[in-house]
Amino acid sequence: MYAGIDIGGTNIKAIITNREGAILAAGSERTPKTAEEINDTIIGLLRKMLEKKGSRISALQSIGIGAAGAIDGKKGIVITSPNITAWKNYPLATIIEKKTGVRVFLENDATAAVIGEWWTGHGKKFKNWVMLTLGTGIGGGAVIDNKVYTGQSGSSLEIGHLTIDYNGKPCPCGSRGCLERYASATALVELTKQKTKKHQSSLHNRMKTEAISARMVFEEANKGDALARQCLEEVGFFLGIGIAGLVNIFNPEAIIFGGGLSHAHRYLFPIAKKVVQERALPGLKDNVKYLIIKNEDKTPALGAAKVGIDSLGL
Ligand SMILES: [Zn+2]
Repeated sequence: MYAGIDIGGTNIKAIITNREGAILAAGSERTPKTAEEINDTIIGLLRKMLEKKGSRISALQSIGIGAAGAIDGKKGIVITSPNITAWKNYPLATIIEKKTGVRVFLENDATAAVIGEWWTGHGKKFKNWVMLTLGTGIGGGAVIDNKVYTGQSGSSLEIGHLTIDYNGKPCPCGSRGCLERYASATALVELTKQKTKKHQSSLHNRMKTEAISARMVFEEANKGDALARQCLEEVGFFLGIGIAGLVNIFNPEAIIFGGGLSHAHRYLFPIAKKVVQERALPGLKDNVKYLIIKNEDKTPALGAAKVGIDSLGL
């Protein structure tokens, strides 16, 4: 048995798997504040899952952990994390290893998600594909010739910060006109806020009691609200600009989408596909499949487990 842990800013998700990637047990808890509480939550989750199976932590061969931020996988250190400020040059792997007696391996969470999809999801069917995670920001990953591409430092494919307008909106990354300023859930909310100031929409009713969210825009679009649909389609247009660039660079067989905003694919994809047809190069843009990640909830934890399995070199 092997464990995989996915530490996000909101939840810590854990799975137990075998060598083939079958999920034997799963659990999740809210992410606590301090580093010590996070360690205790990880141990608690492992214990609970294994107890249900009549087993214990010492039965694990390895623990793989995926975490957001700059990770030094070789040293097992979280250098910095945007979501968890308690971690600064934090030797997470060593600490969990001491507490469990099991080998622990660390990976960036976005890379872990790509590895998980490559191992157990749609990614199995293709040799060359790109992953796009449409959430608060836009994350990405790529598999090239059936290998997960990691770049020099393990944090490549920051597709969200691809410039699509050189003089565009400032981005917290320090640049301007980054894709995620136009095609993320955050961008959708910003755009909808602006448009509702000038136009009629069923969103006005809901705005009396709640703040605009990407989910709200999606729900109102489903009920037929024209403005909500227009906002989603505008985001789809910008997404298409980003995808056209990716298609020209990677010539992928598929693009696999994850993240909350990917649920709105019925509004995003038609216009994005049209933009790609208009702008990407002939010979590269045809036969690209648009797919939604199979089991987003557990894929990053599965990928983290796979990192552990492969690092053991069995
Ligand atoms: Zn940026």
